[in-house]
Amino acid sequence: MSPRSHETAVLIVGAGPVGLALAADLGWRGVSCLVVEQGEGPPDHPRASALNARSMEFMRRFGIAEAVRAASAPEDFPHTALYCTSLNGYEIARIERPEHGGKGATTASPERPQRCNQLWLDPILRDLAASFARVELRYRCAFAELTQSRDGVLTTVHDLATDERYRIAARYVVDCSGGHSPIRRAFGIDMSGSAYVGHHLSIFVRAPRLWEHHPMGKAALIMFVEPAGLWRNLVMLDGRELYRFGISGKAFFDAPVSVDADGLFAEVVGKAVPHEVLSIRRWSARNVVAERYRVGDVFLAGDAAHLNHPASGLGLNTGFGDAVDLAWKLEATLAGWGGARLLDSYEIERRPVGVCNVGHASDTYDTDRMRRPHPEIAQATEAGAAARRTLGEAILRTQTRKYITDGIALGYGYDASPICWREQSPAPPLTASEYRPTSYPGSRAPHAWFAPARSTLDAFGRGFVLMRLGAAAPDPAAIAGAFAQRGVPLSILSVADPAIAALYERRLVLVRPDGHVAWRADAAPTDPSALVERVRGGVYSMESEPRSQAMP
Ligand SMILES: Cc1cc2nc3c(=O)[nH]c(=O)nc-3n(C[C@H](O)[C@H](O)[C@H](O)COP(=O)(O)OP(=O)(O)OC[C@H]3O[C@@H](n4cnc5c(N)ncnc54)[C@H](O)[C@@H]3O)c2cc1C
Repeated sequence: MSPRSHETAVLIVGAGPVGLALAADLGWRGVSCLVVEQGEGPPDHPRASALNARSMEFMRRFGIAEAVRAASAPEDFPHTALYCTSLNGYEIARIERPEHGGKGATTASPERPQRCNQLWLDPILRDLAASFARVELRYRCAFAELTQSRDGVLTTVHDLATDERYRIAARYVVDCSGGHSPIRRAFGIDMSGSAYVGHHLSIFVRAPRLWEHHPMGKAALIMFVEPAGLWRNLVMLDGRELYRFGISGKAFFDAPVSVDADGLFAEVVGKAVPHEVLSIRRWSARNVVAERYRVGDVFLAGDAAHLNHPASGLGLNTGFGDAVDLAWKLEATLAGWGGARLLDSYEIERRPVGVCNVGHASDTYDTDRMRRPHPEIAQATEAGAAARRTLGEAILRTQTRKYITDGIALGYGYDASPICWREQSPAPPLTASEYRPTSYPGSRAPHAWFAPARSTLDAFGRGFVLMRLGAAAPDPAAIAGAFAQRGVPLSILSVADPAIAALYERRLVLVRPDGHVAWRADAAPTDPSALVERVRGGVYSMESEPRSQAMP
């Protein structure tokens, strides 16, 4: 694409983390795309920090996991979630997350969850996206309107630097413009879910070595419990001196300039400590999902498609999942090996994940929000101690699933997808905290080391991979022939290791370019053409309802 080309295969509106990740994935696949962003560049005020293991696996495929780790909180900074009355008051509960942060694999993944705020993550993603010859980023360029025709989408943008308006012709448009999406609104797409609307202030604070001013020790997330409820929190950003101090309430939201941020900060610390308020921003929270993720050749991804309260750290992670699901389908469709229905499967696969994650965020946030602590919660009385004990037990019982979400991060699947080969037996149930590896069609293919420092996941990304597992794996020739006939890229990976064969549960497992299982069996299929037709999104019909969203 020439530097000022007004034509592109994919136009991405919004260079937030999801738009940038999509651009990077498309660039990695050699698909040309143009990103228009109304702002000047990455944010100067903190938002998301929590990257789950699945997002880190995407970073690994992009080759930036090390850079993200280096920009994350120091390896030894504990990812503890702490509840207390104030940092110099009483501890109420703490949830440890020893498998988060630092280097080294877990049994479930080659990557650990990290805390890398968008202050540092977005520039890494921007530089990665910009490094691909076929990706162009245009900042200070706002989406204005679009029209669709049989040939694609004609979008009018406003160059805010020159005040010029011009049109961009694209085959597809992906709306990554965030919660206020002008495209979703123009299409009149409703958001459904909880009626909750939360009003918050985010206060960016520098407080060097804050942990030396209180006895609670280091913690990544600190929730302050007051007689009136849980309305303030402190989120560690760099593990050294930077924090996001959150306060909730419509009165604060309506009049941010009159907020005594220094006084409120001293209250939660429990005494005056050296600090500096760097910036204050308002934000509102909702727990809703768009009714549609696609209108014609326009797709919604990230916050444009789903919004949730960030307390369980799911918004950005869910958005990355959207980008990764869509990127290979766009590549396949543009290259001609994707079937006519492939792009339909984006909404079918990703919307249930959005509903599930938003539901989890909503439930767990509401559980804290609705708490009415005992009036003596912060008092040095027997009743105060009893109230703290009772509340601490309730928090541990109900909120561990808010902070430990390995099941959500790694266990989500597309078992009801029309491009996965569903089996007679039901898909394994999804649980929020615990991930159980499975190769059930639709699931993320499990991680195992099949060579030094080489995860099974490292084999996925470009085209489909047919895994032959164990010594008795069937001949893949018929499948390979059917794929070749349709021009669908396929590579064969033979893994003799019996432990990996047991983990993968079948002798043949077909993995999609996004690392999800499309099909598995112990014998070669009788009709390999039907298999390739299904997984490439050729003609299909919806056979089943998506699995239940209820999650223990
Ligand atoms: C305080 C806070 C803490 C959070 N913590 C977490 C967390 O720990 N983990 C997590 O997973 N999520 C978290 N989130 C949510 C996370 O920040 C969002 O889910 C994420 O930023 C969504 O990314 P996005 O790219 O979809 O949208 P955005 O980040 O909103 O980016 C959208 C971009 O589109 C641009 N845009 C908008 N309109 C136009 C237009 N007309 N033309 C051109 N460009 C346009 C905007 O300028 C913006 O840059 C948090 C959110 C908040 C507010």
